[in-house]
Amino acid sequence: MNTQQIITTAEEKLIHTYNRYQIVLDHGNGTHLYDTDGKEYLDFGAGIAVFALGYNNKEYNDGLKAQIDKLIHTSNYFYNEPAVHAAQLLTQASGMDRVFFTNSGTESIEGAIKLAKKYAYLKTGSVNHEIIAMQHSFHGRSMGALAVTGNKHYQEAFGPMIPGIRFAEYNNLDSVKALINEKTCAIIFETVQGEGGIYPATKEFIEGIRALCDEKGILLILDEIQCGMGRTGSMFAYQQYGVKPDIITVAKALGCGVPIGAFLATEEVAKALVPGDHGTTYGGNPLACAAAVQVLTLFEKLHVLDNVKEVSAYLEEQLDKLVAEYDTIKERRGMGLMQGLELTVAPSGIIAKALEQGLILFSAGSNVLRFVPPLVITKSDVDEMIGKLKKALENE
Ligand SMILES: *Cc1c(COP(=O)(O)O)cnc(C)c1O
Repeated sequence: MNTQQIITTAEEKLIHTYNRYQIVLDHGNGTHLYDTDGKEYLDFGAGIAVFALGYNNKEYNDGLKAQIDKLIHTSNYFYNEPAVHAAQLLTQASGMDRVFFTNSGTESIEGAIKLAKKYAYLKTGSVNHEIIAMQHSFHGRSMGALAVTGNKHYQEAFGPMIPGIRFAEYNNLDSVKALINEKTCAIIFETVQGEGGIYPATKEFIEGIRALCDEKGILLILDEIQCGMGRTGSMFAYQQYGVKPDIITVAKALGCGVPIGAFLATEEVAKALVPGDHGTTYGGNPLACAAAVQVLTLFEKLHVLDNVKEVSAYLEEQLDKLVAEYDTIKERRGMGLMQGLELTVAPSGIIAKALEQGLILFSAGSNVLRFVPPLVITKSDVDEMIGKLKKALENE
């Protein structure tokens, strides 16, 4: 198929849940992607914060190929080594005790909600528990994850939502306190809100919530699906706040493109789930877990966290210059290589112009340009990005 045939057939055959750019991506190398016409793009989207290691990393690819030739799938009625190895590395990196592997972010949220409910059920013997989530949050599209996603537009046509979910204002401790009652079993939020517009939690908020949870016997679930896996400069964003959650959710960069997610918990909480409570056919399969093993191993070997710290400081500096220079940019927010520029205009025009310049960027919320590049970018990638973005801003 040529480029036009691919686009035409896609519009005929795929359920139309996305408005796509008129570009067919074909292959990638490092921090750059190439379309079917050979045009090069600098990738500051990383497949939505997924491809942390950059494209076509030889060791990662070889690790996957070796696993393909060995064993791609087995059922969860047997053990497999990649899953156990991935569990070892991930519990070590997060400080959590146990892990359940899923196939996506939304499934990690489903599992986290079920775990919190089961834990509360064992404690109280009742099932009418409530969960507090945040306005402008994003946790995924399946029914449980959608129910805790604070976006009326996403929920509207799909009611009724699972009951017992209340929405507080992010970074407003009093608004959370006001919703707590004896039924509250968990509080869930993103350590850095992603889709909602790149808002890091304040230290007061996250510390306050932890203290509140300890006082009332409520579980703290942190969604690290986007901000975790090194993106903010620590393996997980909560590690920079000195706060330990009871449950965390991970996905996106965990497999660097091979679909895998996970929810992790402390021993005390994890033991609430027993055989028969939860399961998945694909979750924890050897191919997906081999990808996670490669990712976690290469993070160490390539000193990815050091690179994030170094390059993100430079990125912040360069973005701050743009804030000073352009009236259409209101402010910069973010942590590490998860940055946002809040605009006074809708970002779609600038994103389209950036694509013309060969730069891939996404939006977040209604007015934020989002920067979530591969974690192996260099300062010269930042310079290239700024050059292209300036052209896009000037042609707006
Ligand atoms: C992307 C995302 C999800 C959903 O993950 P999927 O793999 O798309 O289901 C959940 N939470 C956050 C914070 C995300 O960024």
